[in-house]
Amino acid sequence: MAAIQFTNVSKRYDSGQEALRSVDFTLESGEMAFLTGHSGAGKSTLLKLLTRVEQPSRGDVWVGDQNLSELSRSEIPQYRRTLGVVYQNHRLLEDRTVYQNIALPLRIAGYNEEDIGRRVRAALDRVGLLESEQKLPQALSSGEQQRIGIARAIVHKPRVLIADEPTGNLDPRLSLDIMSLFEQFNRIGTTVLIATHDVALIKRMRHRVLILDKGRLRHVQ
Ligand code: ADP
Repeated sequence: MAAIQFTNVSKRYDSGQEALRSVDFTLESGEMAFLTGHSGAGKSTLLKLLTRVEQPSRGDVWVGDQNLSELSRSEIPQYRRTLGVVYQNHRLLEDRTVYQNIALPLRIAGYNEEDIGRRVRAALDRVGLLESEQKLPQALSSGEQQRIGIARAIVHKPRVLIADEPTGNLDPRLSLDIMSLFEQFNRIGTTVLIATHDVALIKRMRHRVLILDKGRLRHVQ
């Protein structure tokens, strides 16, 4: 089954800027792919259509069996909770412990404390930071902070994991570690789409690459 499908998707902002032009692709369930292209090529816009921050001007975006155009405003928060999203600047709350940061999406979704504890520790274990649960984010290195951002994104076991320049602030060695972490989640069945301009890193990873050029999908390798 397709995890993500774009059918003839165009996005023109109110400013008149054409950010995406007739984009067509399918990411199968369990696939991992990189989305790349020059600055302004439309990568963030494509991800914003997936998180339903923006809507296409033309065409349809499907995630699983959900056509995102058919979501009502009140259904959007629930839809977003089905995704895992990792940002370049992890967006951790600085005054909460690592544990509390990762627990937050589960609290919002109404999990009980016992479930929260079990899932938060499982997520921390997966990113190799079990011993850091009571630390504040600023006590951790930037690579560790990004791992916490990933733990928070996967703690509710999303079927689709999306990342926007997740290694943008990291050196090459740490970037490779973080990408390997995404691969681990992909190996257990999560569909992964990562926007990055780090071409050297992509070449090392041997996954499918979607290349945007001025809003058009040029190559699907
Ligand atoms: P990338 O992530 O590849 O750098 P973006 O998706 O951010 O590309 O941008 C694609 C194009 O759309 C750019 O020309 C950018 O200036 C424009 N753009 C992005 N967001 C907006 C917006 N909210 N309003 C108007 N134009 C935008």
